[in-house]
Amino acid sequence: MGRLAESKESLAMLEELLRRRICGVCVDRNTEGGCGLSNPDECGLFNRFPKIVAAVSRVESEKLEDYVAAIREDVCEGCANQMLDGYCRVREEVRCVLDRYLVLIVSALEEVRGTRLQHGMVLGRP
Ligand code: SF4
Ligand code: SF4
Repeated sequence: MGRLAESKESLAMLEELLRRRICGVCVDRNTEGGCGLSNPDECGLFNRFPKIVAAVSRVESEKLEDYVAAIREDVCEGCANQMLDGYCRVREEVRCVLDRYLVLIVSALEEVRGTRLQHGMVLGRP
């Protein structure tokens, strides 16, 4: 199975898909349905979207933990919120959008690529 295309156009298409899937259920959206963050550019999903797509794309597995490991290595390692020992307070407090909706994010990206996670890992879609 091939990697997800990472051209500018493909990333824009994937981002549009994720904005439909994730912003619609995100607890940080406002009452008008837009992003409620004081600075939407700080969204932990969309401010590092190409890295997330690349991390998911290098995995070919039905197991969620394989994707979690790739995200931890490729995204969390470079995040200012993660300590040297791997601890992330933002993750522990369920404030990281990427971690909070990881199953939905991986499911949506892998749906595009044609992979499904193990039964029970694919959550309902809005
Ligand atoms: S924090 Fe991110 S995922 Fe949540 S509503 Fe804002 S842009 Fe969408
Ligand atoms: S889980 Fe923590 S270290 Fe990983 S992206 Fe989110 S805030 Fe950064």
